[in-house]
Amino acid sequence: MEIPLHHLPPGGRQFKETWPHLTIEEKSGLRGLRAVAVAVTARADPERLRLQGQAESEALLVCSRCLAEFELPLTAEIDCTYALTRDYLEQDADVARLVEGDHVDPQPEIVGLLLAELPYQTICHDDCKGLCATCGSDLNQGPCHCPSASGSPFEILKTLRTKQGDSPRD
Ligand SMILES: [Zn+2]
Ligand SMILES: [Zn+2]
Repeated sequence: MEIPLHHLPPGGRQFKETWPHLTIEEKSGLRGLRAVAVAVTARADPERLRLQGQAESEALLVCSRCLAEFELPLTAEIDCTYALTRDYLEQDADVARLVEGDHVDPQPEIVGLLLAELPYQTICHDDCKGLCATCGSDLNQGPCHCPSASGSPFEILKTLRTKQGDSPRD
């Protein structure tokens, strides 16, 4: 996306773009973003450029409990200011960065705003049962045949003894 820094009308100009799938693996559980739809209005004065609008996408995530891939819709409000002069950069603490030249590509900031909307915990459903710690089956598909983890520790000991008792007879 290229936003020109000059010759913008006083009321601003709207820019719309859809970016193709982005592969990102910088956070645990995140595999990427599906197409990102961006709509922003750009306004500029000699010192700064301000972008306001919205970005929508779907995050491709891996559940931290059951390891299934799932998608989560993300919407981010965009309000991003770029300094066009070094003086303005020093004045305004909320500026994203200094931009030199005749255009800015706001993709890093917009992707950052979308990723900031990700939940703290990456779970496919609030009630995801996860994987069995013993056999690895997905407990969302139904219970496995392992002794219940919530059962008494003596039950588990009993199965261990049975297994040990079985082996010499083979
Ligand atoms: Zn899950
Ligand atoms: Zn199991």
